[in-house]
Amino acid sequence: MTELDQLFDKAKAYALAYRKEVAVKPSTPLSYATMRERVAAPLPESGTESGAIIDELVALTDGGLMPTVGPRFFAWVMGSSHPAGVAADWLVTAWGQNAGYQGTSPAMAAIEEIAERWLLELLGLPLDSAIGFCTGATLANGTCLAAARTGVLRKVGWDADADGLFGAPPVHVLVGADAHTSVHSALQLIGFGSRRVIAVDTDAQGRIVPAALEQAIAGLEGPKIIISQAGQINTGDFDPFDAIADIAAAHDAWLHVDGAIGLWAMATPSLKHLVGGLARADSWATDGHKWLQVPYDSGLAIVRDKDALLHAMTQWASYLPTIAQGDRVPSNYVPELSRRARGAAVWALLKAYGREGIVKMVERHCALARRFAERLRTEPGIRVLNEVVLNQIIVDFGADSDATKAVIAEVQKDGVLFAGGAQWRGSWVMRLSVISAPTTEADIDMSADAIIAAWRAVQARGA
Ligand SMILES: *Cc1c(COP(=O)(O)O)cnc(C)c1O
Repeated sequence: MTELDQLFDKAKAYALAYRKEVAVKPSTPLSYATMRERVAAPLPESGTESGAIIDELVALTDGGLMPTVGPRFFAWVMGSSHPAGVAADWLVTAWGQNAGYQGTSPAMAAIEEIAERWLLELLGLPLDSAIGFCTGATLANGTCLAAARTGVLRKVGWDADADGLFGAPPVHVLVGADAHTSVHSALQLIGFGSRRVIAVDTDAQGRIVPAALEQAIAGLEGPKIIISQAGQINTGDFDPFDAIADIAAAHDAWLHVDGAIGLWAMATPSLKHLVGGLARADSWATDGHKWLQVPYDSGLAIVRDKDALLHAMTQWASYLPTIAQGDRVPSNYVPELSRRARGAAVWALLKAYGREGIVKMVERHCALARRFAERLRTEPGIRVLNEVVLNQIIVDFGADSDATKAVIAEVQKDGVLFAGGAQWRGSWVMRLSVISAPTTEADIDMSADAIIAAWRAVQARGA
């Protein structure tokens, strides 16, 4: 065996051991403080043999990894890094491809292009839309909104990409009051400011109220962008897109959708009632590393007006590979030039599931979420606070936030599952996201029992 054989075999053996153990190990990792202490060391002055580095990396991180690839991780909306995607990503790394251009990796440019086509077909979005493969929905929101900025300002004769926003006609940005924080971060990044937006009232499920949007937009002059949402981070619910798209059309506004979680409902016939009008938007952001189970990191920025996206993202210099007319240049769809071949893992997951498999998985997770909610509802004192229309559940343990925090702490200490909390409508809730491919009914039942037991323990201590 060569040294390379040994090194890659070692990495493979460690990876296999981890994936085999993750379902049976405690779900709560050691603390960050413990990890910091363990890894603290002076800067290496000389080099170390590669195999020893891998041994050390595994030893140092042992117990400190979050079991996101396991079956009972519900704290955040994180997919499970499907084996097909992991293996494809290993190859991408081993091949060391820079997927910025056709000229830097013809194969990866072609793979990304076919993945783009498949995604548009799967999601039922206009086939001439463009998709930028980026790191996550935060950057996907930013990429889409940069295209929106370019698009709405070009319409009034202003070139934001050349002249910036200095002295530009003001752009009105209307956002649902329960938008994800990443939307505000994206607006901040592209020069719109996170505070200088018009927040539109939402209902109990966090959905934009169309009458409130109509009222907010009436009388606004000049360029406008409306940001709506498919899959609210706590309730999982969807804005009423048909009504919003009508308003956007009547006011000539660019309609963007943050669909980090919920865009996959577009592929799922039984969820069609949630997504009516969603395809009428101008841009959509989603994640590969959530419902599609692509390994980290994978975001998708989808824009109907390809021209606006290219105008906002293209960079060029004479030393860069020459491109033929009509070539799809991957780096012109995202903010980066040199970049990982993110399309390969997306391509692998679309092959691993196929359209049917994705529909089945989404439906299965929604059914598991309903089951989870039903199980929890049977216990006195546990309240399910949302209408479970997708994969997201929020519960509390009475109106006292301290009780909810105590139950979360107890669940984490216990280690059967991993769940976290958030503030919703002014008090603390436990958030449960059913999103991992390996989660079964048995995992849901075991987790519901553990939450109920934790709640009983907290009550017993309090009494
Ligand atoms: C997760 C999420 C985001 C942010 O996505 P990242 O991949 O973490 O950048 C944005 N919006 C919603 C609704 C999300 O669930």
